[in-house]
Amino acid sequence: MLSQWSIPLFLLVIAGATIIPERQALGSESPPSDLRTSSADRTRQYFTPEEIDRGRAYARGRYVLYGVRMALTLGLFGLMTLSPLSAKIRDLSISVASGRVWLTIAVYGLLVALLYYAVTFPVSLYGGFLREHTFGLSRQSVASWAWDYTKGALINAAILLPLLMLLYAFIRWDPVRWYLSAWVILVLVMGLLAELSPILLDPLFHTFRPVQDKALVNRLRALTDRAGLTVGPILEIDASKKTNKTNAYFTGLGRTRRIVLYDTLIAGSTPEEVELIVAHELGHWRRHHTWKGMAISATSALAAMWLIARLLNTAADSGRFGFIHPADPMSLPFLLLLFLALTILTTPIQVAISRSFEREADLESLRLSANPEAFIGAEVKLARTNFADIEPPRAMVWLLYTHPPVLERIAMAESFRAKQGQRRGEIDDR
Ligand SMILES: [Zn+2]
Repeated sequence: MLSQWSIPLFLLVIAGATIIPERQALGSESPPSDLRTSSADRTRQYFTPEEIDRGRAYARGRYVLYGVRMALTLGLFGLMTLSPLSAKIRDLSISVASGRVWLTIAVYGLLVALLYYAVTFPVSLYGGFLREHTFGLSRQSVASWAWDYTKGALINAAILLPLLMLLYAFIRWDPVRWYLSAWVILVLVMGLLAELSPILLDPLFHTFRPVQDKALVNRLRALTDRAGLTVGPILEIDASKKTNKTNAYFTGLGRTRRIVLYDTLIAGSTPEEVELIVAHELGHWRRHHTWKGMAISATSALAAMWLIARLLNTAADSGRFGFIHPADPMSLPFLLLLFLALTILTTPIQVAISRSFEREADLESLRLSANPEAFIGAEVKLARTNFADIEPPRAMVWLLYTHPPVLERIAMAESFRAKQGQRRGEIDDR
């Protein structure tokens, strides 16, 4: 009864909370009627047919790879849940851990992780390295890529294995309400990672230094002052050692918050365009997107964990999947399967929230800079250097896009420019 209704209910609650802000953001910025240039016209205005084809070829392969990775992962956890494989791995883990319960789950987790990496490695190698070279986007040697991949896996293991041991300790102590204590730990870890990863983890992959161009720094400081924000260091990373792509992001909480620019972005953009991209990051701050994002994640994690706890108990009671107590390490693939299914089902909601945040940040950046030309210039360059899908299928946007497609963002700037013109016209008429 519960398992029948809880998933739709859970999705409905989250959907209700997220679709509203997106509507608002869209409503306030829909272009005036005279500006509703058809999307084909707009595409031709900003991008060459070659750029459109290249972006389509690059992006559509990535959609397929995403699907393949999901299918492989679901297949692995599904197979483990339904076949005797999981029981064999558990027996092996018990003997390796000499029967120590807390160690058994760590060994079991490690073996599942090894299987996961073995199954998904070809996709990672192809999508993350070979294909990036085929498209001329990567500058990394195979050794450097392999080292990054290994570091990523080791960091995941270092963070996830202790959490897994704690999780199963909670399930053993309270097989019904374990999700409450597990949730508290999850929220703490989320906050800690947001605070510490810019200073502990990010430097493991890139070298950071303050932006060298003094004129640019002064321009960016003037911008942050105008935005009324105190920002920590404005840094550049040596992305050019690994990729031709361009990007910028802000990261950290409290004292570790900072703006990070790819050196490839600084090299390939005008100061006005860099300023616009930083203005977009400041827009995220002004609208408190980090805190809002964390609050939404924490709330949905609680709902998801409650649901998983219920389903885990139902599965243990039925004995259908080989475990009769939820704390049996054998329940892990089933738990991961539930987690993955929920992730896939709620990704459209998560990315819709993200897109609405991105629209708000875009709008803030336009207000802050009052420079729609630079906004359009920066968007066009980002799309070109990163081989963006200029006209992505609507379904893909809905399923996967954390940012609005480039033409939508350009349309917002055009609409802003038109309103700016109207306002100027009104002032001149007086
Ligand atoms: Zn953004």
